[in-house]
Amino acid sequence: MGVEKVPKYNIPIKKVDYVFIELEKMKPHEQLVQKELEAFIESVTGSGIFWKAMLLAKVPGEDLYLIVDGHHRWAGLQKLGAKKAPSVILDYFSDDVKVYTWYPAFKGSLDRVIERLKAEGLEVIEDPEAEEKAERGEIAFALVGERSFSIPGALDEQKKVSKVLDEMSVEGEIELIYYGLKEDARDDMAKGEVDYVFIRKAPTKEDVMELVKRGEVYSPKTTRHVLPFIPDMIDVKLEDLF
Ligand code: ADP
Repeated sequence: MGVEKVPKYNIPIKKVDYVFIELEKMKPHEQLVQKELEAFIESVTGSGIFWKAMLLAKVPGEDLYLIVDGHHRWAGLQKLGAKKAPSVILDYFSDDVKVYTWYPAFKGSLDRVIERLKAEGLEVIEDPEAEEKAERGEIAFALVGERSFSIPGALDEQKKVSKVLDEMSVEGEIELIYYGLKEDARDDMAKGEVDYVFIRKAPTKEDVMELVKRGEVYSPKTTRHVLPFIPDMIDVKLEDLF
């Protein structure tokens, strides 16, 4: 997977209470990345300690929890046969919880990327208005750099783009970087560190809840949730989660 460029915030670490929630009551909202899953499993089985609580939000009207953060911990624990995980339950719809998105960017050949996107069945149309359309949620992505393109569609098309970028990054054809802020991507483009950035509209919290209720998921790195605090590390034995 690509590198992350997280905006520099000063978020305080806070000791928060956690509860044990059954893994089968948790609902993902994003697809998994195999490499991240393997990394977590290796880490938790190596140390025998689970040190980062899951962040969950109650799904209104259902005995279920949306996974806000912790998709790979959830899937990894399930794979190991565990039954529950220490979790912090958030007041998801409070203004304290913000949802943004990640902007994938690449360094590499635009022509090769477009060729691969088209091979996946996607349309890539030169369009000076692409960014505005993407910000209004009218297209799956805008591809913006020296030139500007629209990629029509919605969720399924976003998943295809994500798949192509992941594959090309694994193959070493592009350098893939995920930006938390569009402005940072633009700065790096001006410096020649990346060539193109994919822009999409960030989902709202309502969008995320609706998606989960429908049993669907976004492509990896669609949501970037930000809290006013970073939960302090916990110290729970892996064997206590079975
Ligand atoms: P996502 O961010 O896609 O929702 P995760 O947050 O679950 O998925 O990604 C795996 C996380 O697991 C990483 O943030 C990593 O810091 C964390 N991690 C690695 N080792 C451990 C461990 N032993 N206990 C708890 N968390 C761990």
